[in-house]
Amino acid sequence: MKYALVNDTPKEAQPGLSGKCKCCGSPTIPKCGELKIWHWAHSGKRMCDPWWENETEWHRAWKGKFPTEWQEIIHTAANDEKHIADVKTGQSYVIEFQHSRLDPQERIARETFYQNMVWVVDGTRLKKDYPRFLEVRKNFSPIYKPGFFLVHFPEECFPAAWVESSVEVVFDFQGNPPTDPQDGMRDTLWCLLPGRAKRGAVVIAISRQTFITTLSKQPRLLPDPAHEFVNALDKLFADQEKLREQQTQNQGWKPRKRTWRL
Ligand SMILES: [Zn+2]
Repeated sequence: MKYALVNDTPKEAQPGLSGKCKCCGSPTIPKCGELKIWHWAHSGKRMCDPWWENETEWHRAWKGKFPTEWQEIIHTAANDEKHIADVKTGQSYVIEFQHSRLDPQERIARETFYQNMVWVVDGTRLKKDYPRFLEVRKNFSPIYKPGFFLVHFPEECFPAAWVESSVEVVFDFQGNPPTDPQDGMRDTLWCLLPGRAKRGAVVIAISRQTFITTLSKQPRLLPDPAHEFVNALDKLFADQEKLREQQTQNQGWKPRKRTWRL
């Protein structure tokens, strides 16, 4: 963990400090070695939150872009189940940063637990993921407004474990340290929305800064919950299709020529 409570105040790990876990209250010790990023660990026992994963530079860099008081927040469900959210914004939107592969069952469990959340996935973990994305990116169809796309085969574009997610999944292909800061495609965040419109997936291109400032001000990434937005787009496409069909039929219908005899 990045933070533990030292005299009831969240503090980062430093040699000589001792703290308490924000989640379970157990004693924690600072781990300030050279190999792993400095962090707090439970003394003598395993991490209390089974969903916790060891943090990378990438994790820390992302978390650090949000206010300290939003980082590592304990989220408690109605049944008293507790987990540590990487970031929970002032408007209770949870941001989970995921570097490692995630078992689909655990992905579903976390989405069910947090509900109002977005994943940010490290797209640099597997070398093949970015070239594969770039290849499919060529066929993205622009829709709705600039930066919005329809993708017919999202499983060919993004790692399979994320394609059926019930919440927004943001892919970060830049990594940390940055793989190639000059590469605009890498530097853009690609957000896959849940659900389907016109049998395709909706993907939004968004800048890092927009992502951060939006979540600092708005309750969530989009003005409406993402699945509602995708459903509305699907309805819009269906209505447009119907209208086109009607127009085609109308064009096809020609009044019979009448010859009037006087
Ligand atoms: Zn704990």
